[in-house]
Amino acid sequence: MIIDLHNHTTRCNHAVGSLDEYVVKAIASNINVFGFSDHAPMRFDEAYRMRFDEMEAYERDVLHVKEKYADSISILLAYEVDYLDGYIDENVMKREVDYWIGSVHYLGNWGFDNPEFIGEYQNRDIDEIWQHYFDAIKAVADSSLFDIVGHIDLMKLFKYLPKKDVRLIAKEAIKAIKKADMVIEINAAGLRKPVSEQYPSHLLMELIAEHDIPITFGSDAHAPEHIGYAQEQMHAFAKSFGYKKCATFQNRARSLVTF
Ligand SMILES: [Zn+2]
Ligand SMILES: [Zn+2]
Repeated sequence: MIIDLHNHTTRCNHAVGSLDEYVVKAIASNINVFGFSDHAPMRFDEAYRMRFDEMEAYERDVLHVKEKYADSISILLAYEVDYLDGYIDENVMKREVDYWIGSVHYLGNWGFDNPEFIGEYQNRDIDEIWQHYFDAIKAVADSSLFDIVGHIDLMKLFKYLPKKDVRLIAKEAIKAIKKADMVIEINAAGLRKPVSEQYPSHLLMELIAEHDIPITFGSDAHAPEHIGYAQEQMHAFAKSFGYKKCATFQNRARSLVTF
């Protein structure tokens, strides 16, 4: 089975293409289970996400294509939620979804994955930045709110890499993810960024496999052509660490399927 659980829509204001175009591309990419997980609304950096009053229409749109293409593909409904202290909103978290992706895109009010604010990397100690990032990932796990950790080492996207071994920096976060029984996605979007590799890195994946943490796959598509990109490479990457199964969800119940 080919699973792809991380994909956006134009409602986040930084993606292109209709839902139909995404689904048609997913079917053409032989994907069996395709999840829409658009950026959930939040009262912070509101330009990069849907509005609160769009959630119902977003869900209706996804359920519409779910029915329309039911003979060809399983469509799932989800959100990618920003983990930012004080901004988790119960109006979001009470929605009925197949799964939740918890992601860190901000350290304090610094949107570190936004090229506009790239200068901030020069102002801080790189190992401290990375430690703060993985402390935030640990908080995602400790919150027990989410099913999947989004792009676990997003901090590397502009290639500001830690001097210290990332396995030491991420150790407590990985332990917390194991304890919370969460899934980690292998996300191909990093291949489109300056760092030019999937999330997680090879080194981090060693630590994840050692802890026997379940994985899944995500294109993190912001355009139809992103869907299925490097799919075989991502599967081969996971298999090289001994993985044969990946996770999928329905109404927040997880199952593991062979990929
Ligand atoms: Zn996005
Ligand atoms: Zn994200």
